[in-house]
Amino acid sequence: MAMPSSALVSGILPLSHRRVCARRRRQRVVVASWSSAGATPPGVPTGTRKPVASVVGAGIVGLTTALRLQEAGFDVTVTHAEDEHDLVSHGSGGFWFPYLVENMDRVGPWAKATYDAFLSEMRASPFYKPGSVNKDVPGGECVRMRDVLVFDDLPRRPPVPNWAPPDMRKLGTDELPPLDDLFDAYGVHISGGWGFRAPVVEMPGYLRALRQRVADGGGKFEKRQLTSLTDAAPHNADVVVNCAGLGNHERHGRLARDPALYPIRGQVVKVKAPHVQQVFVADLDGFTSYAIPRGDCVIIGGTHDDDEWDIMPDRDEAEAIMKRAAAFLPRGYMDNAEILGHWSGLRPARRGGARLELDDEPDGKGRRVVHCYGHGGAGVTCSWGCADEVVNICRECVKDTPMAVARPRVDDRDQSNNAVRTGADVRSSKSAQILKDWILKSVKKGGVAPTPKPQEPLPQER
Ligand SMILES: Cc1cc2nc3c(=O)[nH]c(=O)nc-3n(C[C@H](O)[C@H](O)[C@H](O)COP(=O)(O)OP(=O)(O)OC[C@H]3O[C@@H](n4cnc5c(N)ncnc54)[C@H](O)[C@@H]3O)c2cc1C
Repeated sequence: MAMPSSALVSGILPLSHRRVCARRRRQRVVVASWSSAGATPPGVPTGTRKPVASVVGAGIVGLTTALRLQEAGFDVTVTHAEDEHDLVSHGSGGFWFPYLVENMDRVGPWAKATYDAFLSEMRASPFYKPGSVNKDVPGGECVRMRDVLVFDDLPRRPPVPNWAPPDMRKLGTDELPPLDDLFDAYGVHISGGWGFRAPVVEMPGYLRALRQRVADGGGKFEKRQLTSLTDAAPHNADVVVNCAGLGNHERHGRLARDPALYPIRGQVVKVKAPHVQQVFVADLDGFTSYAIPRGDCVIIGGTHDDDEWDIMPDRDEAEAIMKRAAAFLPRGYMDNAEILGHWSGLRPARRGGARLELDDEPDGKGRRVVHCYGHGGAGVTCSWGCADEVVNICRECVKDTPMAVARPRVDDRDQSNNAVRTGADVRSSKSAQILKDWILKSVKKGGVAPTPKPQEPLPQER
């Protein structure tokens, strides 16, 4: 989680109610002119119909991209192979923070744009006040700003990175957790950290809401496993946007067949611990632990195993996650924390960083493809920023070329059920219950878990 150096980002000014209303009026005008005239979108002079985009993938990357394309005036169809709950996006911590992703030169601006997008969506509510959610926007209730503490073991404090939230600050020594427990149990040492506020997204509800927003805007969804990007529906699409994550791995022999793509497996435990209202992260050499509060649970993490494809949660790992959390989090936070479930997923990581670019002739058949995959542990963090960049490329595509001619090709569709599941939940099965009881017992028995009552005031949600 190294933070590249650069200047502090500028602050974000809150919008007044008046400006919000004015902006909404402007937005309404744009939408009305679209549907009534059926004209091309702003900046797209060609053709008499809307340009058509085919988005492959309905994870966080695909859905945000589909929505932004719609807002830019494209007709959108989303093709996806898996159900939502079988995706890594569904179980993701949803915490805004660039993590396990390469190439900060590109990730930084994507992350910053995404932070701004979450914030402006929250502030678009006339009822916005710090710490509240925006119930006016579908899915708005799933996004909340949280206080965050990130600890590390860096020998020297780097400057505040250029993608940092405006309030990011270095932590004082009095804010660092007591070092003795961690050092005694794990031989690790926290040297410093950062404090800031950041969006935390409750992914299951948020994905549902994004999907609904795309559907409400006239977007279509098709559940079908593609063997080729050029087979994506509809066949008259002017541009195909590839947001298929690990579906592009060469192991599956389909889509982009990208040798730079690889999975980073991660496992988490969902617990009931209502007093955890802050995000805590320890990213130390040989020791990772974090707690991300959601409305219904706290997500306790985590692990990161390169090139590991097994998506089933593992009992030993779950135990280790809980023990590390008990050693790291403020005393008493994990006492009696009821285990609600286990989840593991595969981060779509890519050597050299996420691929976001135009691929003019992916198979020599003349269909334009924009790739957007390989966001590793930062797919949510980069989502809106990447979607904006994809839209800019797509606009250029339809501006420079005549509208595409319909090209039906249904002959080579493969409906085989060899889907790329990227996430697995264990909630209600018998094995999950056994695992839960067993871990609870072993954590309570002692291990490294401290058991005294909380010694400090519990933080309140602002
Ligand atoms: C434990 C854990 C915690 C995480 N926490 C965070 C966090 O706090 N913040 C953060 O930013 N990120 C986090 N991540 C990472 C984040 O979850 C991913 O980066 C992100 O979900 C990737 O989204 P995606 O849309 O690219 O992929 P996916 O969610 O995997 O979606 C891929 C889509 O492509 C479709 N597809 C694939 N192949 C085909 C095909 N052949 N035909 C048709 N459709 C196809 C799938 O059906 C699916 O709809 C975490 C990940 C893990 C494992």
